[in-house]
Amino acid sequence: MQNSQSQNQTESPKTLLEHTFKINKTDRESQKNQKAFCVWFTGLSASGKSTLANALDVELFKRGKHSVILDSDTVRKGLCGDLGFSEQARDENIRRVGEVTKIMTGAGLICITAFISPFAREREQARALHEDGTFIEVFLDCPIDECEKRDPKGMYKKAHQNIIYPFTGVHSPYENPTKPEIVLNTKDESVDTCIKKILIYLENKKLI
Ligand code: ADP
Repeated sequence: MQNSQSQNQTESPKTLLEHTFKINKTDRESQKNQKAFCVWFTGLSASGKSTLANALDVELFKRGKHSVILDSDTVRKGLCGDLGFSEQARDENIRRVGEVTKIMTGAGLICITAFISPFAREREQARALHEDGTFIEVFLDCPIDECEKRDPKGMYKKAHQNIIYPFTGVHSPYENPTKPEIVLNTKDESVDTCIKKILIYLENKKLI
């Protein structure tokens, strides 16, 4: 039996015409005196995504930039609280995050995300929502043994006991990005060094 929502639905989302709003992304960027873009951190759990997202946000804030962080724990508790951890649900989690980054950058903000985002297809889907040069994929290349050693939230321990299942790197794969804008070796490079590298990239690309 159809529910009332599908009975009332007269158009598919694909055929809906979007309203043209008066203030556009460029207007919002110039009001904020900044370029809007997305920095997408990807890497294994404990590779340093949240740490670097936070440190980058601080540096941008100091420079008078308007940024926002989307991180896994916050999103999983709210926006994606209805989703589980099957491959399909994880794809949907990242799809929603990608859509939010589009809304945030459309508002003239610098959007920083911290999600394992293990599958190339889901990162490409997020990239496709952004103009060329405004999606900065940052691959945190940290060997799994180092991540397991750090295990700041005890996630690997729980994964090995199958209390968390499936867990990237233990039960399911992490697909290394093939063409990320930035690769950081977070095992050997300090947080400061990593942040400097990101800032230099952003400056060279005239994004900040
Ligand atoms: P993730 O968000 O990827 O799960 P976290 O940022 O929560 O990872 O944890 C990473 C841990 O690794 C933190 O304890 C952090 O202090 C440490 N760490 C060591 N070197 C780095 C680095 N270069 N970049 C980021 N984190 C690092």
